[in-house]
Amino acid sequence: MSSLRSSRYNFPVQGRDGRLAMFNAATGAIFRLEGRDAGALSTCLVDPAQRFSAEDFDDELLGRLRRGGFVIAADVDEVAIIRERYWRARGETPVVLTITTTMNCNLGCYYCYEERSGARLELADVDAIVELARRNVEASGKHSLHVDWYGGEPLLNLGLLEAASAALQTYCAEAGVSYVASIISNGTDWPGDVDGFVARHCIRQAQISFDGLSTNHNKRRRYRKGFGPGDSFARAVELVDRLVRCARVDLRFNIDRGNQGDLIPFISFARARGWFEAPYAAVLQPARLASYSGASAFMRGHELTLEEFDALRAAARAEIGDGERVEESEIPDGLPLPKTSVCAALATHSVVVGAEGRTYRCGLQVGEVARAVGTLSAAISPEGEAPDAGWWESFDPTLAPSCSRCSFLPVCWGGCPKKHLEGDQHAIQEQGRYWRNNLPRLIAAAAGIEGLCDPVIPPELQFR
Ligand code: SF4
Ligand code: SF4
Repeated sequence: MSSLRSSRYNFPVQGRDGRLAMFNAATGAIFRLEGRDAGALSTCLVDPAQRFSAEDFDDELLGRLRRGGFVIAADVDEVAIIRERYWRARGETPVVLTITTTMNCNLGCYYCYEERSGARLELADVDAIVELARRNVEASGKHSLHVDWYGGEPLLNLGLLEAASAALQTYCAEAGVSYVASIISNGTDWPGDVDGFVARHCIRQAQISFDGLSTNHNKRRRYRKGFGPGDSFARAVELVDRLVRCARVDLRFNIDRGNQGDLIPFISFARARGWFEAPYAAVLQPARLASYSGASAFMRGHELTLEEFDALRAAARAEIGDGERVEESEIPDGLPLPKTSVCAALATHSVVVGAEGRTYRCGLQVGEVARAVGTLSAAISPEGEAPDAGWWESFDPTLAPSCSRCSFLPVCWGGCPKKHLEGDQHAIQEQGRYWRNNLPRLIAAAAGIEGLCDPVIPPELQFR
């Protein structure tokens, strides 16, 4: 009786020496297939029409195939299992409150799509910010709050940051809620007492952006009129020298066609300054400058192709060695495990406060008032009826036309939901290309297989 079938999430890899391994994206299991029937078994395991019965395998092999999720009961709805996991993650992901202190910035990066308006949060908004935090923490049933300071350049509204941080920490201490913070900054306008600032505001992590070594960085990160002149590279370097002694620093390295040659020399530069061996070792985050929305469509001409970016990232990995870390901003390095968490935009109890007092799901939307989903105080009403609010609440990649049929779904969950909201098919297809081009390498590395016969997954295995 045929009561078993192959999982739709099986992916095979084969080394040129004939060794075979199978990866299951829904469980994260890897199985090295050995023996004379390995090739035939591999073929069956990626055939969605294949049906088996328990008698087709010996007990030990069947046990391993079932435990790894490679073979499942014929009537199991695998997409429904991923859906359940996704919705659980939306409710369980930690509470993050992202606070855009100001939309203003002292630098004018050519690729920045943000409107550098005069919008800024005021001290009078602090009570409403704390109230929003309280509501979200209580609704989550959790006992922790993570605040992410964001901008513009968040430190251009230092008074608000200081006051809101103190008030939020007071609320957390009284309510028995643990508190940590992070910050995304260009690193040019920090207070002199870096250690004291980090300690006072419980900053565990700071992302400081670089656009190359000095020449490229300063050309791209120029001071705007009224703020400069200055050497934005030297300022950021000086800050990182001090930050690595008290907080984790993510060195976000923004890459486009014009500064790609600086990445490897930047690693040498960071190593020479001891950033990778400091008490809080810095982490390199190569990021591909790309078009995020209609407002940044001009970036298409400057952006590297995914293949070019992957090659550069591989070179960075090789250069940086084992002792230091390269992290990928969108998709983690190493063997992808089935996802169990969502980005803050999908987390039920997380919210982004815009500098003008509206609330958003995604930080990249702040300032696009038509994308707001609510307001900080009842005095400000969202444009129209906040039409996106319901979309965010109900977005489910397991029901999206392409993702629901995609075998990368358990490790991808549709990638960035904002791209689905905007109907950005180019970005969604790029996400699929990323997995087709990279998953075989990641599986092979985890299975100890070198030299792949076929380093790219064909589209028919993605949609089977
Ligand atoms: S919606 Fe996209 S850009 Fe926004 S937080 Fe999520 S992954 Fe990031
Ligand atoms: S690879 Fe593309 S189609 Fe597949 S889940 Fe991710 S975004 Fe959706």
